Amino acid sequence: MSSQKHVRVRFAPSPTGGLHLGGVRTALFNYLFAKNQGGDFILRIEDTDQTRFVPGAEEYIKECLDWCGITPDESPWKEGSFGPYRQSERKPSYRQFAEQLIAKGYAYYAFDTAEELDQQRQIHPNFRYSHENRKTLRNSLSLSAEETAALLQAGAPYTVRIKMPEDELVSFEDLIRGRVTFETKLVDDKVLLKADGMPTYHLAVVVDDRAMEISHVFRGEEWLPSAPVHILLWEYLGWKEEMPQWAHLPLILKPDGNGKLSKRDGDRLGFPVYAMNWKDPKTGDETVGFRERGFLPEAFVNMLAVLGWNDGSEQEIFTLAELIDKFSVERISKAGAKFDFEKSKWFNQEWIKLSSNVELLPKIQHVIEEHLPENVKIDDNFVISILELVKERLIYIEDFWEQASFFFQKPNQYDVDAVKPKWNAEKTAFFEQIALDFANQSEWNAEILEPMFKAKISASGMKIGELMMPFRIMLVGGKFGPDVFQIAAHLGKDEVVERIQLALPKFEG
Ligand code: GLU
Repeated sequence: MSSQKHVRVRFAPSPTGGLHLGGVRTALFNYLFAKNQGGDFILRIEDTDQTRFVPGAEEYIKECLDWCGITPDESPWKEGSFGPYRQSERKPSYRQFAEQLIAKGYAYYAFDTAEELDQQRQIHPNFRYSHENRKTLRNSLSLSAEETAALLQAGAPYTVRIKMPEDELVSFEDLIRGRVTFETKLVDDKVLLKADGMPTYHLAVVVDDRAMEISHVFRGEEWLPSAPVHILLWEYLGWKEEMPQWAHLPLILKPDGNGKLSKRDGDRLGFPVYAMNWKDPKTGDETVGFRERGFLPEAFVNMLAVLGWNDGSEQEIFTLAELIDKFSVERISKAGAKFDFEKSKWFNQEWIKLSSNVELLPKIQHVIEEHLPENVKIDDNFVISILELVKERLIYIEDFWEQASFFFQKPNQYDVDAVKPKWNAEKTAFFEQIALDFANQSEWNAEILEPMFKAKISASGMKIGELMMPFRIMLVGGKFGPDVFQIAAHLGKDEVVERIQLALPKFEG
């Protein structure tokens, strides 16, 4: 029945720091599923744990989704009719459900203080508040009704805990994993309502998913152990018929496949793990993100989409529109997906090649601006023609400068070691002459320059290679770059002549 519901999915991050790429992939899969099904993608900020709240994290999440092009249909910044979209703002709505659960015998008041619980942890290192020991702790199951009433009356602080059945099986149909079954005897009595009146994640997620009419939940595999608590809450609150369908996404693994990819792996292996730069406001620590590392959002999204999903063909490059069109839950794998940074770089390179020059232009202009004096502005058409020449070589947009700086400024050093040992007066004479010939040349393009240069070499009796490489070094500074005649053509006649004259003395003796 629930599959006929209008599709509404939510990405429900806690604003505790930068977004790990696993988090963005969860958002992406939610988005792709919703859009494939003509449904809505909702962002709900899960901020009930106020102790973990980090300023700036919410804005980061917003910016990150916008950067990826997966802007939510409803969010704290674009309220639909299911608000508020921050759990803390829904605070008054939760208590009644906790009380309902207590009234029905599915939850209970727990009066244990933090010190008492600490004491328990000292005595029992593996302490869990559960059916095994709840009768020995200070709660409405172990105390008499009068004692409980008196404590409540006196305003004693309490939490509300779920009363997990002693020995039952809870199962559900996961869209990715199939039937999943849990033994309740292994699950502890999670806190549902905290002493400050805030719900915990467990209560809030169920109440909100229902209130927001969520039809499907795509979330990370790390939430699977919490599923039995959530399933029981749906049942205990009398909402079983309305329960969303669950899909627990496979983990993103370290490159060697040994365990979940963490931020520390990125630091250790030198690649980003966060979507965008993140500066921890407490410690001031900065973590580099894919965006700042030079990734195009199209490449980042494409790379994430194929971490745990494929369309069943060999195709690897997908636009967001294609992903929406092709996305299917059946093709999400159960197994964890190994993260491969080299492959991510390949995606970026491919996406740079696929992007139009007009799309890349502002980004390239930005790179140029970073390197040239402020008052120097390079003509857009010139930048585009240079981009055409070096595009294939770019892994990151920033590589443009390394590949093309010589089009905008004279080389500041020359690979003289590559030419000096074999230099002679004949070569000097050749370049002096060609500088004169160039200066007299009226038409200036690669098609004219190449045969002209080569004919002069033949006439000199020297070999092509002996003079082409020095010519390149004169223009570029080193043995790299695109076709040397294209370089010469783009630099223009006067600049080429000047660079030959400038370099010659450095090559001699
Ligand atoms: N607030 C949880 C998180 O930070 C959301 C888990 C869920 O989607 O149910 O990941």
